[in-house]
Amino acid sequence: MFSVIYPRTACKNTKTLLWQLHKRFRKKDKKSWSKTTNTERAQEYFDVAYPPVYGSRWPSIRLALQSKQKYIAVINNFANHEGIVEEFEELGAVDIRYKYKRCAERMRTRSQQQDLQKSCNEANSAISTDDNDQQPIRPSLIELDDDEIAALQNQEPLSRYPEEYRQRILAKGGSFGTADVDFTNRLITPSEGGLGGGSSGGVMMDYVPSTKLKGLENWIEETDVFHRASQGDAEIGLKVEIQQEPISLPETLKIYTFNKGDISEFPRPKLDRELGVLDHYCMDGASVLPVLALEMQPGQTVLDLCAAPGGKSLLALQTLLPSLVVSNDKTEGRVKRIREIMKQYIPSGLSVMENTSVITMEDGCLLREREAYDHVLVDAPCLTDRHSLLESDNSIFKTTRTKERLKLPELQTQLLVNALHKVRPGGSIVYSTCTLSPLQNDGVVHLALTRIWQETTIECSVVDMSAAIRPLSFLYRFGNNLGLRYGQIVLPSLLSNFGPMYFAKIKRLK
Ligand code: SAM
Repeated sequence: MFSVIYPRTACKNTKTLLWQLHKRFRKKDKKSWSKTTNTERAQEYFDVAYPPVYGSRWPSIRLALQSKQKYIAVINNFANHEGIVEEFEELGAVDIRYKYKRCAERMRTRSQQQDLQKSCNEANSAISTDDNDQQPIRPSLIELDDDEIAALQNQEPLSRYPEEYRQRILAKGGSFGTADVDFTNRLITPSEGGLGGGSSGGVMMDYVPSTKLKGLENWIEETDVFHRASQGDAEIGLKVEIQQEPISLPETLKIYTFNKGDISEFPRPKLDRELGVLDHYCMDGASVLPVLALEMQPGQTVLDLCAAPGGKSLLALQTLLPSLVVSNDKTEGRVKRIREIMKQYIPSGLSVMENTSVITMEDGCLLREREAYDHVLVDAPCLTDRHSLLESDNSIFKTTRTKERLKLPELQTQLLVNALHKVRPGGSIVYSTCTLSPLQNDGVVHLALTRIWQETTIECSVVDMSAAIRPLSFLYRFGNNLGLRYGQIVLPSLLSNFGPMYFAKIKRLK
């Protein structure tokens, strides 16, 4: 054994150096071991906030959110695209419009058959009580989502099982269950359910019990907004319209995906050298829904209030329906993203597009124009659940962005209120987010409609699109029976890992 003997000065310097290193490491240690990351903070938040709302569905949603996202591919109508369509078909990708049309037709036929059967049953029961020759119609499972299939287990036997099967089970002393499954009755008038201040409660009232908030001061403001939202204003004069007709998918839109459970990927977009644009682009499959929900007609005008990076604006342009799509965002950096996307997909000098696609930079909370558009899309900034769970960079759960995060519902409400001013009477607004937060979804719609009711003479109706989107169940996992009052939601699932995407359609009547 030997020891190094430092000269006195060196020894002093070494001690200082060691002390400094110790301090630095202690700091670093503290940083690396005790600091919660942004993704962990997001996880913690969602794990407390979402189970009361999504119940037993939350673990599978969480797993999907943390797994690879699935995309759909939109063929660029402004490029030569024959080659890419063939390539997609060879890969086994599905033409969504083709499949959707078939599902919609099947559903229509089935509903006609059911109507027919219902009237036959009524006629028969008037004549005789013998119902042996009634043939129950069995729904095709491919058109139902996971929740509906599960719920079918409790459905009344007559509508699901053939008579002989029913008899056999009953003979064995079995039971079919008697739960009253009613998928369509999801509407609660504003004076009922949670936010309206009624007694029946509901999802909005259950959202994050205050006892769970102790010590989680990050949450208090959001809950405060929530409580403010849930008090008073039992009546906001809202009408509800149920859209039975399946949502229309424009003929011009060419969108492809892989079947449920197939996680194949699309090739990278290729450059069309002649036109200088890319042949297709990929986006979250659920992102098409808010644009489809606008149900644009030829020649109509659209404002995409929060447009960057521009995926939904571009989709609206790909339908070739609108005469004007204004893609707006708030900051120079974000507007630059829209410009880049448009440049990548719309050939320069395409004169018809020069007038059709307009990019603006304005704070959507300011109100410069009124009653100017046929449709306004508010794809609002939100908790971006998937991004927040996976990426630490630019996370809304960064401690430095806490205030911004807590103010999201206020910002979203203001954007939606302005959108209702900007759309013409007779026009429609779609409000959408990519979060599962009930406050930022139905909660914000309620807050905005309350303000509109209290502060203006504008009259609106909410369009319940749950029946209209059912033929798309072959593609998405829709969140049914969650107590949603205004919008519909796509829940991420390992079989079709799209979303989350919430969207609510509001019509401006006056
Ligand atoms: N619709 C986009 C798409 O599909 O590509 C995504 C929109 S992203 C969810 C929300 C956008 O809202 C962000 O680009 C953000 O810059 C913008 N935003 C935030 N506050 C805004 C405001 N006050 N006015 C306008 N845009 C705003």
